[in-house]
Amino acid sequence: MSEDLHARLKAYEGRAATTAGAGKDLVNEPMIRHWCEAMGDTNPAYTGPDAIAPPTMLQAWTMGGLSGHTGRSAAQDELFGLLDGAGFTSVVATDCEQEYLRPLRPGDRITFDAVIESVSERKTTKLGTGYFVTTRMDVRADGERAGTHRFRILKYAPAARQKYAPTGRAQLEPQAAKPEPHSKGRRPRPVINRDNAGFWEGVAGHRLLIQRCEGCGALRFPWLPGCNACGSAEWDTVEAGGQGTVYSYVVMHHPPFPAFDPPYAVGLIELAEGVRMVGDVVGVPYDKVRIGMPVQLEFLRVDEELELPVFRGLPGGAG
Ligand code: ZN
Repeated sequence: MSEDLHARLKAYEGRAATTAGAGKDLVNEPMIRHWCEAMGDTNPAYTGPDAIAPPTMLQAWTMGGLSGHTGRSAAQDELFGLLDGAGFTSVVATDCEQEYLRPLRPGDRITFDAVIESVSERKTTKLGTGYFVTTRMDVRADGERAGTHRFRILKYAPAARQKYAPTGRAQLEPQAAKPEPHSKGRRPRPVINRDNAGFWEGVAGHRLLIQRCEGCGALRFPWLPGCNACGSAEWDTVEAGGQGTVYSYVVMHHPPFPAFDPPYAVGLIELAEGVRMVGDVVGVPYDKVRIGMPVQLEFLRVDEELELPVFRGLPGGAG
């Protein structure tokens, strides 16, 4: 069965995903400015009369927005439909590679073609079992080759659900990915990767670990590979004492999620150490949560495999 599926998937290699796509706007200064502000990029090359666009904006000029693009071929939808039908219903973007051949400048007219470059063998990752699909987009500016954008996704059957496959069924068969009634209402799982695994190991030991830069001593949260203050990739951790205050919060009413029972309060908590993190505020009615309210860290066992840091509102705080 899976051999047959793989052959059918492979037949999509080389087929067009988009033909003669056109950028919705010329390369332009306002979009460059917005990008630089969002990225905090103050490089002078991106302003002034000789400005170029940040090279990493390459894909931005090709995006279709909510209304989409013309020129999109049916091949990619068919390929994903085939994978969905075989039980590989989840998708995650895994990586992107870009190559820059020519700077883009305000006024350039962007056109592009995209091709389904490759479909991998069936692979098993920590997320689950599935297929990597790589799409290559060739971008032109005023007809000249300007760069290449390669985008890879994993279409997969989630591993967490396979765990609930009834015994006797082959654990990695695609049909194991169909939602089990049991899984309805489970809280979403955190995405654990090599950059944040240490944080979740800490949680498992009921320790809330904050990264500390070994270059400049700055604390940071959430976990990141490098320091935003000095660029150092060297770090250790400090354990949070557990005291904090509500820096801000939202009360969720809508949309409803199966695992949650609205209304409920989600806090942006400022820890005593100075970093902020998002977490449930517990022990206080949702409409009594206030900015400045003192909170205390707790660990909430959500189910047999998930434990989360949450924050208990303390009485007598700001009100
Ligand atoms: Zn630093």
